[in-house]
Formats: sequence, C-alpha cells, structure tokens
Amino acid sequence: MVIAAASGAAAQKHLSRVEPDVILLDVDMPGMDGFELTRWIRARPQTRYTPIVMITGREDAESVNIAYEVGATDFIVKPISWSILAHRVRYILRGSHTQAALRESHSRVKAIVEALPDRLYSIDERGRVMGDNTSLASFDPVSGTTVTMTTDAWSEFEHAFRREIERTAGQHVEDVLRSGRPVESAISIIGDNNRLRHYEVRVVKQTAKLGLAVVRDVTLQKEADHKIRQLAYFDPLTGLPNRQYFSSELRACMEQARRDDAAFALLYIDLDHFKRINDTLGHTAGDELLKMVAKRLERCLRAEDLVARPGSTHGDDTNVARLGGDEFTLIVRDTAAVENIETVANRIIDRLKVPFEFSGHEFVVTPSIGIALYPNDGEDEETLLKTADVAMYQAKQAGRSGYSFCTETTSVRSLERLDLELDLRRALERGQFELHYQPKVTTNGWQLTGAEALLRWKHPERGYISPARIIPIAEDTGLIVPIGRWILQEACRQLASWARQGIPIVPVSVNLSGQQFWQDDIASVVETALGTYELDADKLHLELTEGVLMRDVKQTRDALQALKQTGISLAVDDFGTGYSSLAYLRQFPLDALKIDRSFVDDLPEEDAAAICSAIISMAQSLHLTVVAEGVENREQLDFLTRHECDEIQGYFFSKPLPAAEFEAMLRREQSFVEFVGDGMGQSLSVAANASAT
Ligand code: C2E
Ligand code: CA
Ligand code: CA
Repeated sequence: MVIAAASGAAAQKHLSRVEPDVILLDVDMPGMDGFELTRWIRARPQTRYTPIVMITGREDAESVNIAYEVGATDFIVKPISWSILAHRVRYILRGSHTQAALRESHSRVKAIVEALPDRLYSIDERGRVMGDNTSLASFDPVSGTTVTMTTDAWSEFEHAFRREIERTAGQHVEDVLRSGRPVESAISIIGDNNRLRHYEVRVVKQTAKLGLAVVRDVTLQKEADHKIRQLAYFDPLTGLPNRQYFSSELRACMEQARRDDAAFALLYIDLDHFKRINDTLGHTAGDELLKMVAKRLERCLRAEDLVARPGSTHGDDTNVARLGGDEFTLIVRDTAAVENIETVANRIIDRLKVPFEFSGHEFVVTPSIGIALYPNDGEDEETLLKTADVAMYQAKQAGRSGYSFCTETTSVRSLERLDLELDLRRALERGQFELHYQPKVTTNGWQLTGAEALLRWKHPERGYISPARIIPIAEDTGLIVPIGRWILQEACRQLASWARQGIPIVPVSVNLSGQQFWQDDIASVVETALGTYELDADKLHLELTEGVLMRDVKQTRDALQALKQTGISLAVDDFGTGYSSLAYLRQFPLDALKIDRSFVDDLPEEDAAAICSAIISMAQSLHLTVVAEGVENREQLDFLTRHECDEIQGYFFSKPLPAAEFEAMLRREQSFVEFVGDGMGQSLSVAANASAT
C-alpha cells in the first residue's frame, strides 16, 4: 500500500497512524521542506530506523550532504526513472530488514553480556586491554560483596586487577589468536579486608587481531572449596592436618621413599597427663593448651629446617598432624634429621618443657614420643603407625617425658597382637569392657552366696575376647593398672546400683593381677571404689593367685594387711599350682581358697581326688572357706560335696552371666535346690549351659 501526502504537515498526520516500511520524500515541498521533515521523523522513536529516500532535483553536493546529515538513507535525483525506482526501493527495504535484524541481535547480545557475571575485555595481540563491556570506573570486580575499601585502595585494587588481566591474557593471547582455541587461567588479588579474591580468566579469539578475556569472580566458590577441604582434612581446633590428611600424607611419603630408596621417621607424640589438665582446669584450658602445643611443634620443626620439601607452605604441607585428643604425629623426611632423630626428639621435649602460660597459670607439658623408622619398622601405613604408637606407649611406661624406639620385642610381635594391644589401650575410653558375673553356690543348702566378676571385652570387630588373652597383654603393657581400677569401680558401682534398687545382693569377687597388687596403691584404690559408691566392704572380695602371694612373704603380708583394713575379704585363687606351703598361708590374713580348675577337671580321678581332699582339709584347718571352681558335672559336684567343700562355682550351675542376666538371678529366689535335689540336675545343667552366653 502506498500513501501519498501533499505536504510535510499531511505526512506528519499520516505518520501518527501508520508505520511505513519506507518513506519517499521530496526536498522541495510547500511549508516544511524535506530536510525538516526528515529531522522530525528521525526524532520519533517509532520511525528512528525507517528508511527515508529523498528525491531531489538539485544535484549539488551541499543538499546531498544535508540529506545524509539529517538522517536520510538514500537519495534519488530527478527526473525519476520509474523502473529503476522500484529496484531502488526493494534494495533499500532489504537493507533495512537486515539492519533491523542486526539491531535485534545486537541488543540480545548486550542483554546477555549484561546478565553474565563475567566481565569481558578486548585484548590486543600484546595483551593490552582495549576495551571492556563496562567502563572500568563503574566496574566492580569485587562483585557480590560490599566494598569497604577507601577510594585510594579501590583504585589501587582496580589498577592491580587490570594489570593482572593484562599479564595473564598477554601470556596467552597470541596462542589463542593463532590457534583459535580458548585458554583458561586464574588470577588472585588481595581485595578488601585483605581478602584474597580469585578470578578465572578465559581468553578466546574475538577477531583476527583481538582476543577477548572473559573474567569471572570465583572467590566465593574458591572459599567454599577451601572450607570443605579444611573441614575434611584439618583439625578445627589447631588447624593442623587431621588423621585423614595425615594418612594420605604418610602414604605419599612411603611411595616417595620407596622410589628414592630413602628412609623417614614417624614420631608419635602423646602428652603426659593431659587428661588431668582437662579434668582439673576444664576443656577450654585443655583446648587452649593443645593449640599452643600444636604451634610449638610446628615452629620447632620449621625453625630447625626440618621440613624437607622446598616451597612448602604453612598449613598445606606441614608435617605435624593431630590425630585426635592429645595425640600428635610428625613425619621427618630430612635425611640428616632422620639420622639424628634422637636430637629431634630431644628438641621437641625441650621445647615443650618451657612452661605454657594461660590465664595467669603456668603449665608444664611433657610428651612421650614413640619413634618408628621407615622402612625398618614397617613398610605399610598401618604397621608403621602402630609401631610408633606402641613405642610411644613404651616411652610412657619408661617414665614419661621421653622417647622410645620400638624395641626388638615390639617389632617381632605379631601384627595381631599389636592390633589387640592398641585396641586395648582405647577399649577403656570407648567403654568396651564389661563385667560378667558367675554365681557361687553353697553346698550347704544350695544357696547363691556370691559371684566372681569376670572381665569381658566386647571388641567391635572380633566380638567378645577372653580375659585369658587380654590380661597378659594388659600386664605386659601396664594397662592392667587402669583396667584393674575400672574393674573394681565397676563391680562396686554395679553392686551399689542393685542395692539401691532393693535387689538382694551377694558379695562379688574381683580378680587382682600381680601388677595391680604390687604397683598400684591397691588399698586406697579399693577404699576409693567402696567410698565412691558407698558400698559396704563386706560385699567386695578380692582374689589373688598363689603365684602373686609367694613373691615376698613380708611385703605380701603388709600389703594384704592394708587391704584387710578396708574390711574386704581375700581369697587365694588357682590354689594348688604354686607350691605354697601351709606355713606361708598361715601368715596371711586370708578368708578363702579356690581350688584350681585343673584339679576339679580331673575329678573323680584318683590323683585329682587326693589333691582336692587334701586341699579341702588343709583349708579347714586354716579356717578358710573352700571354693571349687570349674565344676561342670554331677560327679565333680558329688565328690566335692562329700568332702565338705563349702562353695561351688562352675558351668554346672551357671556360666558367667552378663549383668542383666545376673540381676534377674538375684531378683529370683536365690536357691539352686532344684538343680541338685530332684535328680534332674544333670539335664537341667545341660539346659542352663545351652542358654548361657
Ligand atoms: P580365673 O580367675 O581362674 O577365673 C575362672 C575362669 O574359669 C573364668 O574364665 C571362668 O569363666 C572359667 N570357668 C568358670 N566355670 C567354669 C567351668 O565350669 N568350666 C570351664 N571350663 N571354665 C569355667 P575367664 O572368664 O575366661 O577368665 C580367665 C581368667 O582371666 C581368670 O581365671 C582370671 O585369671 C583372668 N581374669 C578374668 N577376669 C579378670 C579380672 O577382672 N581381673 C583380672 N586380674 N583377671 C581376670
Ligand atoms: Ca578368679
Ligand atoms: Ca581360678
């Protein structure tokens, strides 16, 4: 459709109603001329880009210039050749469509660029910034955060930022222009509040001579990554690597050492009596102390240049780690230091000896250090760590505040034993011990008269482990002392708790190991246990083996006397195996005697029968209660009853029972008459065995 207008004013009227594809316009018109109308048309947003063809009779350069100046798209000189005009118009229309499409795509790109978190910089071949998608002044490279920098600091930052972009883009732009393949790199600059800002820089080809640097702020992402890593691999209290990190570090170390055919040392450090500080001063003080210890350990390594790896940075590559609690490890790779590892250990001890100050108090912390050398003491992570751990324990045994290498015996000990040893050390803290109770029954009336408390270790992987296996290890390692104390405490606690619930309790016998008897201040340990739980002394019996008592008569007598003072009863355990004579026993304040299980086992064989009856009559002459343990069958029971043995313990009546089951037994009528009286004893005991643990 073509609309004709006779004057400029008429054209204006039409244009308020239609938007033409193209406008043909005479220069000379009545009233408003073509130039003025064109100006008017261009000023309106609706027709800003509408093609305008001016038809002019004047061929002078002046009017052509004005026509273009005011915004004409093209012009035609009169007289008009109508056939050419049609082509001209079609050509102009095509051009205007292309332009419209370009304009649209341009504004789309602009919108996209504005929406992107990235900043774009045109970079010339030499890496100079030629332009960016925002004016640099308004560009906030510290996006997403409030900028708290002063104007000076801000412009300094901007400057540094731009310089960094030019530097990194400059390194790659030539390559990118040549190959057309984008290159990525990263920059980091200190921003506001000394916060390190991180940017990803991607250089792509823009034109033959221009690269485009696409810069993205990845600070938050980087910080989040760092945080996650920190949480996963570092101990939040001290900032030292944690067990996880240490473990991978140790493996890496081993690999390296294997390749280089080198050695390194692993130090396992445990603070002596740390628990005491924690208990008496509280956890805050304990935490504070651990932090200070961590710092000293780190510093003492760095100061002496023990960190072997060049370029190691704090935190990421330190050789000190905290495995938990007050346990630290340290890997020494430096060859000279490994050769003089004792010097290193001594240095650590010396450094830690300097008192720590904390809220007006001074503390002295001494470490026990176990040293294991790779590859001598273990070629895998587990073995090496265990060896160091055990060596540390030996250092503790040897009087604390010292170091120890793993000894011959440690290194030849089987891994399983090592395993048990280490687990055992933690079993107490982890509450893996239990006491089971095995009833004792009187032959005179078949009443429940007492029980023996027997240790059970509920190992998380191996299930119940026999005390026959634990006790020797505990004795070797000295662990028997804390474990023994726990046993005493637990027995007293349990009895007192039952008594408080109105359950009729019977005395419980606790086994004492030799070390406990000789090394620990056993009388006061017993008193504390009784006192803590307000338990009457007559509810606690102690069993000591013959072997333990025979060591030194005078000392034994004194120690037993002290124990006796607490009011408890004492029994000789495993009697008959230790060649003790009547003369000895007479000097000790004993209350009971337990015939060793091996003799009961063989009853009613002739030899065993002779021994058992001799023991019983000897005990009677000393006015000791005689207990037979390990009684499993009717024949044994009959023999012992006939020979007036006082008490019977064994599977015949019951296996050792978990506390809950023994409690049930205490609550029931405490009589075993039915077991023996009606001739059904044998089958009943079989049933009892089958249901026991
Ligand atoms: P023990 O003091 O001679 O304890 C008696 C052992 O004989 C217990 O083994 C008990 O379960 C077992 N026994 C009881 N009746 C029978 C039976 O009729 N037949 C058979 N075959 N065995 C029976 P358990 O509990 O394995 O303890 C073994 C040893 O470990 C104990 O021998 C004792 O020397 C030591 N032990 C156990 N608990 C403790 C403890 O709390 N402290 C200390 N120091 N040693 C303990
Ligand atoms: Ca015993
Ligand atoms: Ca025994």
